[in-house]
Amino acid sequence: MKTFELDFGEQGHIGIAITKHGATVDSDLKDKCPYCGLRDCYFNCDQSTYDDELETQEEMIDRKMFNTAIDVVESMVLAHAIAGIDVEAPSYKDGIEQVIKAFVNNRCI
Ligand SMILES: [Zn+2]
Repeated sequence: MKTFELDFGEQGHIGIAITKHGATVDSDLKDKCPYCGLRDCYFNCDQSTYDDELETQEEMIDRKMFNTAIDVVESMVLAHAIAGIDVEAPSYKDGIEQVIKAFVNNRCI
């Protein structure tokens, strides 16, 4: 098994594990549902369907778009790691960090 860890400080991290059976990404870069804490909940949980005090519909859509963008980055880093690119190289990590910062800075809300 090969593992890779990209730490982005307070932004979070991307962890990759590649085995002979497949590969996985572990990341905490995506924003969580403010009601249930799941990163893939978009007005799905019981709590979020009853009120919008913690997150409005607009904020939820913004979070979903942000998380989708992060999904793309995670998949790209995973594909690069599988292809043998050194994803832990400082220059590669700096590039990914800049992309994540751009996503954070360009959020609508
Ligand atoms: Zn939820």
